[in-house]
Amino acid sequence: MQKYLFIDRDGTILQSPPPGGQIDSFEKLHFYPHVITWLGKIARELPFKLVMVTNQNGLNSPMYPTELFYPTQNFMLEVLKNEDILFSDIIIDESLPEENSPLRKPRTGRMTKYLTDETADIKNSFVIGDRLTDVQFAKNMGCNAIFINPENLRGQTELTDSIEELKTNWIKAATHNWQDIYEFLSSQ
Ligand SMILES: [Mg+2]
Repeated sequence: MQKYLFIDRDGTILQSPPPGGQIDSFEKLHFYPHVITWLGKIARELPFKLVMVTNQNGLNSPMYPTELFYPTQNFMLEVLKNEDILFSDIIIDESLPEENSPLRKPRTGRMTKYLTDETADIKNSFVIGDRLTDVQFAKNMGCNAIFINPENLRGQTELTDSIEELKTNWIKAATHNWQDIYEFLSSQ
């Protein structure tokens, strides 16, 4: 059975853009501290496949054309690949929160191939993300959540469960740093 890490991008691998903004230029591209070191160890040492799952609000619209997204996205992937951090899949949703798309995280419309794959060990897989919507996504997937930057309360509008329910039952680790995530996952 294959275990997965479903990893958010902004605020998790990269530092968050300002509220309402996007990482649409190299000036806004900053890696989360020490992510390369510890995600590299996770990728090299632990039996998880890595899948990036990211909401990019309004991507491929005049406000956020793909030409502003892919230069930094591709640079990030190249930096990570040089440290053996390879994603077996990259899932990008381009909708806006108010559209309530079934394909948008925390909903699981784009995850059917994993949820129906009998060789996928979803129960022992993890979502890693910096918002409660990532925790909600983990619950909706039927896996557990690792919450990075757990004081972050942005993005609550898309929750269907209470914060208490999500925190109590679905967050298995909460931390500000990737070393803790490596150590937690090593013990699984
Ligand atoms: Mg995020």
